[in-house]
Amino acid sequence: MLISVMEARKSPGQAFGFSFENSGLSPLVLGAEEVVLIKPVSVSGSIVADAEGISVRGTLKTAFQTECARCLKPLEEPIATEFNVRFHKSAGDDDEIYLYEGDSLDITDMIKDHVLLALPIQSLCGPDCKGLCPICGTNLNEGGCVHRK
Ligand SMILES: [Zn+2]
Ligand SMILES: [Zn+2]
Repeated sequence: MLISVMEARKSPGQAFGFSFENSGLSPLVLGAEEVVLIKPVSVSGSIVADAEGISVRGTLKTAFQTECARCLKPLEEPIATEFNVRFHKSAGDDDEIYLYEGDSLDITDMIKDHVLLALPIQSLCGPDCKGLCPICGTNLNEGGCVHRK
């Protein structure tokens, strides 16, 4: 995902919009886990240039494949998040800053970072999910077992 900054750098202070849809970001690897995105990542926002670099802000949306943390039912979990970041030609000592070269920003890594940050700690099929019986494994949403009524 490349954004041209030529126009923005000619007109510092002015916002230039962008939008993308990208299905090539899946799977993302988070530590030992793979996150499988089941919708293209759609990104829209704007860039503004100043003397130091480029500000990039916007929103991203996608969805990933997961399972209910209690009953293990497969789920599609939507993700929607915002980003507001800086791109500079050199990082200095600030690790919050992304780097770019030439006349375009590659926002792919930044978008991956924000997808991973937006992942919920756990997903549930519903707030009232009863989960599985710890003894026999019966799905308690579908009825009781001899251990739980
Ligand atoms: Zn569940
Ligand atoms: Zn049971």
